[in-house]
Amino acid sequence: MKDKKDQISAKEAWALNKKAIAYWWNIDRRIFISTAACNIIKAISPYITIYFSAQLIGEIAGQHRPQELVRIAAIVLIATAIMGLISAALQRWKNAVHESIFYINRKQQLDKMLSMDFCDTDDMDVQNLLRHIQEGDNWSGWGTTRVSGKIFSDVITAVTKIIGAVALSVTLFTSQVPQGNMDFLNSPWMVVLILGIMMATAIISPMLQVKGERYFTEGCADEVKRSNRIFCCYGHMAIDDKSRSEDVRMYTQEVFCIEKSNANAWAGKDSKISRYARGPMGFLLGLAVAVSRIFTGVAYLFVCLKAWAGAFGVGYVTQDISAITSLSSGVSLLLSTWGMIRTNAIYLKDTFAFFELPNKMYQGSLTVEKRSDRNYQVEFRNVSFQYPGSQQWALRNVSMKFTIGERLAVVGQNGSGKTTMIKLLCRLYDPAEGEILLNGINIRKYNYKEYMSIFSVVFQDFQLLSLPLGQNVAAAGQYDNGWARQCLEEAGFGPRLATMPQGLETCLFKDFDNKGVAVSGGEAQKIAIARALYKNAPFIVLDEPTAALDPIAEAEIYAKFNTLIQDRTAVYISHRLSSCRFCDRIAVFHEGSVVQFGTHEELLADKNGQYNQLWNAQAQYYVS
Ligand code: ADP
Repeated sequence: MKDKKDQISAKEAWALNKKAIAYWWNIDRRIFISTAACNIIKAISPYITIYFSAQLIGEIAGQHRPQELVRIAAIVLIATAIMGLISAALQRWKNAVHESIFYINRKQQLDKMLSMDFCDTDDMDVQNLLRHIQEGDNWSGWGTTRVSGKIFSDVITAVTKIIGAVALSVTLFTSQVPQGNMDFLNSPWMVVLILGIMMATAIISPMLQVKGERYFTEGCADEVKRSNRIFCCYGHMAIDDKSRSEDVRMYTQEVFCIEKSNANAWAGKDSKISRYARGPMGFLLGLAVAVSRIFTGVAYLFVCLKAWAGAFGVGYVTQDISAITSLSSGVSLLLSTWGMIRTNAIYLKDTFAFFELPNKMYQGSLTVEKRSDRNYQVEFRNVSFQYPGSQQWALRNVSMKFTIGERLAVVGQNGSGKTTMIKLLCRLYDPAEGEILLNGINIRKYNYKEYMSIFSVVFQDFQLLSLPLGQNVAAAGQYDNGWARQCLEEAGFGPRLATMPQGLETCLFKDFDNKGVAVSGGEAQKIAIARALYKNAPFIVLDEPTAALDPIAEAEIYAKFNTLIQDRTAVYISHRLSSCRFCDRIAVFHEGSVVQFGTHEELLADKNGQYNQLWNAQAQYYVS
């Protein structure tokens, strides 16, 4: 347990927590303003009551003048009511501001995932980093949430408590006992002794507490994170209506959910945390409370002795005891917060490592020429590529040129590199060797957003969102109704659109709307094609665009392929070789290389070629 925490020095822990304060301050400074206002009022409220209560008791025990008693009682009541109201209002404000912290954190993580180099998004180390951050946050708000929610709050409370307590307890040390047997209480050494005991207990008690809590925060961290992960996976299986719930019922997979949930009882009777609680953790936490109570006992003794010896009236007994115990608890809180700052640094280190991941891909600045004649030319020149962490070449020495307005079909067996070629074309990754050129210029030199604007891509694993159909097609909240409808019709979705009562406003899926429609795989594919058409980019890339379509819908798409593509340059990846016939040229991929390039007739004529083999492999079932 020790080693993990000791990896981060006190200085580094402090710097990381300060960085987290700056992180939240830049996002929403009301987080700190509301916390400070609320905690200061809450921390000083008891002192006001204590002060006036002491006056009241003093008056009762002393002169007991009725008018004075009524005056002080009225002040106590009014002050308590006003402070109660103010602190309740501030608490509401603080709660409202803090409510969104979880979502803000998730949004920041999402923004980072979207802005980092694509190759990093599926890197195992990056995924693990993000998982670790989210698990710490889900578990007990560790990380940046801990700073905004607890650490800052506790520091403000502790400091206010200490200042208030010092102000109120001055009389305890300055009031003198009359000459006699008890005048040793006036000695400055008495003050040193009391403050010494207070400091010792204020240090020892939180130290024991932090040590005890480490059995939970560090000793059980792996169990809790694993438990969270299991819950997120198995706990949602039966309610995840889109992907898993059908399988759960069909194969009675709830058995696994129950088994996993039972095995997941990380806080059960025989679990590690229970053993810790019965053993060292319970002992240390109990001892922490006991030590702080020892100080309370000493404080009572000192104050009562001074009052008994005549240093002050009985009214001050409550005031001084409350003040000095508050002083001790304020110092304890400050010290235990320091322990929390140290533990939290472990999570903050990962958080900032994630947020500060550098973008390594070259960011060009050239603008892409907007050509009304759509005269763009793309060339792959000796391109080779390996996925991060892989030793295998996904592409090896690929060279080819797409001429304007050309329909290029890309075929090949699974894993031959077709999709990888598209990913490189869209600059999701940079080639390891060679270069890709747009109109003779390396695509790395273009501004990325501008470069992407000339491509429409329908990936194999495209995703539609739980939004109205029109917004899905336009990929925007506001859209051109007529154009969206036309694109859907061109993609073959027209008849289905006609059956939708709310037309383009029909919500897809039921996540946010009970009237939402569930579309079939084929219908979803048509919507994805319509989305690519709506963008109206000069290049259109279709990766297996008809895989989920029935034969009639597929034939329909082929029949109007030319109308669909118009004057765009099209790259068409397909397993069905019959669909490549309407393309001008065909690139045959095999084990990451382009092994053949030409028209359908040319490639078929090569009896020993890969294309001929693939063609015949598919054709034989239809012929026989
Ligand atoms: P195709 O589209 O022709 O089916 P891909 O381009 O998807 O083939 O894959 C080419 C090769 O790259 C395959 O060997 C595949 O396993 C590998 N590959 C694809 N994606 C990744 C990835 N994200 N990480 C590592 N290897 C990958």
